[in-house]
Amino acid sequence: MTETTLTGEQTQALRAWIDVSGQVRALQHEAKQTERLKRLRALAQEHAQAKAALEQHTHTHQEHAKAARDAEDRADDLRERVTRTETKLNDGTGLTSRDLLSLQDEIAGLQSTIETVDLEEMEELEAADAAQAEVEAARTKADEIAEEGRRLQQQRGSEGERIAQELSAHQAERDALLQRLPANLHPRLRMEGDYPAAAVVTTGACGACGNQLSGMSADTYRNLEAGGLLDCDDCGALLLKTV
Ligand SMILES: [Zn+2]
Repeated sequence: MTETTLTGEQTQALRAWIDVSGQVRALQHEAKQTERLKRLRALAQEHAQAKAALEQHTHTHQEHAKAARDAEDRADDLRERVTRTETKLNDGTGLTSRDLLSLQDEIAGLQSTIETVDLEEMEELEAADAAQAEVEAARTKADEIAEEGRRLQQQRGSEGERIAQELSAHQAERDALLQRLPANLHPRLRMEGDYPAAAVVTTGACGACGNQLSGMSADTYRNLEAGGLLDCDDCGALLLKTV
């Protein structure tokens, strides 16, 4: 039980100290920038996914482009074979009519294969184009996410600076108020715990932890004169009676 009763001036100072402390705690919480950090982590993950998609689509594009080139090469080879066979056929030296028929069949077979391979090349080119469109989309998305991340980082930096400035101003104000209070209260007011070190009672509840005062504590608090102090049974906060 705290025996001290504060003077009117000290009561005013502690009342102000409690308010400024609330602002300090709020700013300390704000300084963590929890939501922004969460969003940044989520963005980093989204960016990694977009990069993976970009890689995947790039790979798919390369595969189709290569397949198209291979088909083109094969078609070129086949055309050369057709030309060579046609030359042989036109020359005709030493060929029986059966040989000629066989060469004609060979040319027809080659030309049919060329058609198939040309079609294959066209399909691969189309698939490569489609994959290229996916590559562009994935790249745009990855860029957008990266940009959003940079913007958020920048915000985090400037917010951090603003909060730090406000915080040090409030802390200085709080230190000045502390000097107007009895020295025996300083150590416990300087303690940074889960709950504020001092509070007022609002509608029968401790302003620090929010718990209702027990019947006995509530009676004691009621009977205190202005400037009287009481410890919260639950969180140990210094409870100030103001009026
Ligand atoms: Zn409490």
